Amino acid sequence: MSTRYQLHTTWASLERMATRSKPYNFSAGPAILPPVVFERAADAIRDLRSPPHLRDAPRTGLSVLEISHRSPSFGSIVHRAETLCHTVLGVPTTHQVLFLQGGASLQFAMVPLNLGQPDHASCYIDTGIWSKKAIVEAKLQGEVHVVATSTPSGYDRIPPFPAARTYANSSYLHLTTNNTIYGTEYSDIPTVDGDVPLVVDCSSHIGSRPLNLDNVALGYAGAQKNLGPSGVTLVFVRKDLIDRCAHDRVPHILRYATHAKQPSLYNTPNTFGIMVLMFVLEWIEQQGGLTGMAASNGAKATRLYEYLDSSQLFSAYAQPESRSQMNVVWNLDGMASQERTTATARFIQAAENEGFVGLKGHRSLGGCRASMYNAFPAEGVDALVAFMAEYERTA
Ligand code: PMP
Repeated sequence: MSTRYQLHTTWASLERMATRSKPYNFSAGPAILPPVVFERAADAIRDLRSPPHLRDAPRTGLSVLEISHRSPSFGSIVHRAETLCHTVLGVPTTHQVLFLQGGASLQFAMVPLNLGQPDHASCYIDTGIWSKKAIVEAKLQGEVHVVATSTPSGYDRIPPFPAARTYANSSYLHLTTNNTIYGTEYSDIPTVDGDVPLVVDCSSHIGSRPLNLDNVALGYAGAQKNLGPSGVTLVFVRKDLIDRCAHDRVPHILRYATHAKQPSLYNTPNTFGIMVLMFVLEWIEQQGGLTGMAASNGAKATRLYEYLDSSQLFSAYAQPESRSQMNVVWNLDGMASQERTTATARFIQAAENEGFVGLKGHRSLGGCRASMYNAFPAEGVDALVAFMAEYERTA
């Protein structure tokens, strides 16, 4: 049996292969991934043995897309992906890593179903639409207290962290650590007083900077921003909480305990997605880990915010102390709303014509948004700033 394809053996050869002309992709998610990861994934579709840690596996000539999720080869992929979540993302070893389906949205429901305790409220910090969706699901299961919110200012900032007495004795405290729509971010995970479990939706900045995950009891993230393709959700949960599910009518598939028994293999997982996530984590490690990511993400975001702060035409939406390094949101200034909508659409179209795609703000907020996840290149931000400055000059 011989493979009919030329496989790539080094990161350098992958890099060469991946260098091709593409638009700059500012999409909020599914989002840009490292070009070399596309090559690695293409290789593994052709021959499962292409990932370096599988080179010594028996030659079968099969693709990763056609092997059993219970095969030793796939088992080693899940195991390696899990290990990299600990070593690269900093998930503590006290936590179980799970790769689930249903997106972050399913976690909005699984969290209260599993961690909600009878006769105890659950507490939420409301920083925008994703928090609100999580709150709606929690309300189906019991009492919810919103202990902080930035709704009065249109979610343009992170609200002050609530006093301990506001969430004492609750089942858990939930917060969204990066708000993809408004471009606000907690620069690290806050510390919770007492033993109330902290639950975080870190979908849109996990992997972008070091985060103190020791403070987190349960974290979840849809993979489709910094970690891989859509269809995989990373969940990490403190092992002592896994069996906490107090409701015996919760379907088995919705219990963390079910998925933890044979990690991520209770039912058929997104095998391809988990493998791509593994490649992305290997790439992050190769780039200097989370410290390397934080340095490059910080530089990219600073570049764009500095321009926005100096511009007479555009202005950043998020308040300076709450600004996200991943999602930068801005508006066109000084116009009545209808005129602004038309001018924004004209700007976005002009940008697209120049090869900058995905700049349209979320439909709930309008305006513009540049999502600059880990894989987004610094030169793309320079090019966008140059384009915007010229647009402003000639507007
Ligand atoms: N939380 C955050 C912070 C998000 O940005 C998103 C999606 N953009 C979601 C939750 C919902 O994720 P999913 O579509 O994977 O359910």
